[in-house]
Order: sequence, then C-alpha cells, then structure tokens
Amino acid sequence: MAKEKNLEVLFVETLKDVLHAEKQILRALPKMARGAASPELKQAFETHRDETEAQVERLQQVFELINKPARAKTCDAILGIIEESKEVMEEFEGSEALDAGLIAAAQAVEHYEIARYGTLKTWAGQLGFKEAADLLDQTLQEEVKTDKLLTKLATMRVNKKAA
Ligand code: FE
Ligand code: FE
Ligand code: FE
Repeated sequence: MAKEKNLEVLFVETLKDVLHAEKQILRALPKMARGAASPELKQAFETHRDETEAQVERLQQVFELINKPARAKTCDAILGIIEESKEVMEEFEGSEALDAGLIAAAQAVEHYEIARYGTLKTWAGQLGFKEAADLLDQTLQEEVKTDKLLTKLATMRVNKKAA
C-alpha cells in the first residue's frame, strides 16, 4: 500500500534529512577549527561544535515528541557543502585567504540549516506540534546567531587579512 504523502510525512522526512546534516556537521567542525588560522575563528567553530551536539539531541527529542524513530536520511546538500569546505582548506592551506574561504563555507552550512529549520518550525506549528516547534526554533536561533558571528569575523578581521 502506498504511504500517504501528507505534510506530516514531509515533516518527518525533512527531520531525517537535517539529522543527517547535523551529524555530518558535528564531524566537520573540529576539522574546520583545526584548519582555521585565526584564534577567533577556531573558537567560533569549537563553540558551534558544542551547540551542534545539543542540536542533535534536540532533534532526537522532536522525533520522540511525535513518536517516530530518530533515523537519518542522507542529505546530499550538506555532503556537497562540506566537500567544498575541504577543497578550500586544501587549496588555500597556509594562505592569507584561508580563513575567508572557511568562513564562506561555514556560512553556506548555516544558511542551509537556517532554511531547513525555518521550514521545519513552520510545519511543526501547522501540524500542531507546539513543543517541537519551540525546540526547532531554539536551534534556528543558534544557527542565526552563528551566521551573524561569522559575518562579523569576516568583515572585521579575516577578509582584511585576505585583501
Ligand atoms: Fe546545526
Ligand atoms: Fe538536505
Ligand atoms: Fe549550524
């Protein structure tokens, strides 16, 4: 029997996508922290690694709230973005532009997450999952905060060095 393709199914499938994305990000952030030249950028990546760990737990809570198993489904978008961050680390290693490239890659990650969590929060609200919507909003705010910090680092120091 074909599974009904409703908004709740779409919500759960998208949760699985973002769970996979967060798990990949959790593995990538320590490498990006090691790769970063400026101590401020290293610190930003380390702080966000810890936040990401809590974000994975929050997603698991959301799955629990809606009585679904917390399964991940391959997110091709995040795999591509992380692949690009590896390329920039390899190609610009030791160069003045390395941190600018790392920030650009990290902001692509955050923007993907902001798009996903914005959507998931809205759908959770429409489906009547109030508590889930609140949890998703907490993570959304952390992603927005991280994106703003990266913009600040890029404009205040790192891009200046790259110029
Ligand atoms: Fe995240
Ligand atoms: Fe995805
Ligand atoms: Fe993030």
